[in-house]
Amino acid sequence: MARLHLFDLDGTLLHGSSAPVEISRQLGLEAETVALDRAISAGLIGPPEYATQVHALWASLTEAHVAAAFDAAPWLTRIREVWAELTRNGDYCAVVSLSPSFFVERLIDWGAHAAYGSRFPAVPFTEPVDPTGVLNAVAKVRIADRLCAEFGVTRADCVAYGDSMSDKDLFGAVPVSVAVNADRHLTGLATHSYTGRDLWEAYELVRVA
Ligand SMILES: [Mg+2]
Repeated sequence: MARLHLFDLDGTLLHGSSAPVEISRQLGLEAETVALDRAISAGLIGPPEYATQVHALWASLTEAHVAAAFDAAPWLTRIREVWAELTRNGDYCAVVSLSPSFFVERLIDWGAHAAYGSRFPAVPFTEPVDPTGVLNAVAKVRIADRLCAEFGVTRADCVAYGDSMSDKDLFGAVPVSVAVNADRHLTGLATHSYTGRDLWEAYELVRVA
């Protein structure tokens, strides 16, 4: 039976960082964005306000900045190896993230079968961000359900990988979950836990021999 592996991006595939911080680093604005990451983690702002604020910071953002941010980001090792093995086994892998779609979708090139992020206007920005396209923890479950239908599997066939409370609802909806470099609140909700920088080692915890 095929399984669907659902990966969070920020703090999970990216070690100790987020796509917005990596994008902002290219513009010399990482301190402002780290502050926004702290504010959203503490629940002081929600995803729509976060998206509006990073969009305002990125007025001069170009595709070249996004490509440089993607290339320089602190990815876990062996992401592509894990996705290639899943594909060989007939499994599916998808990335579902609250981060901007224009960054998340780049992971299709690494072998993800699907990649969803918060909907942002095209770079360079000439339009505002539409708050209705910004994802949250509940939306991750909705997207997981849509992907299940698309790939012909059910929630019972899903494995989720995540690091923070934005993964809590998804971890509650699927039978197998891997807390990756996670805070203790999420680790308590996961069936497995991994600390380190190698996605293969996290995957091995749930690998079916
Ligand atoms: Mg995360």
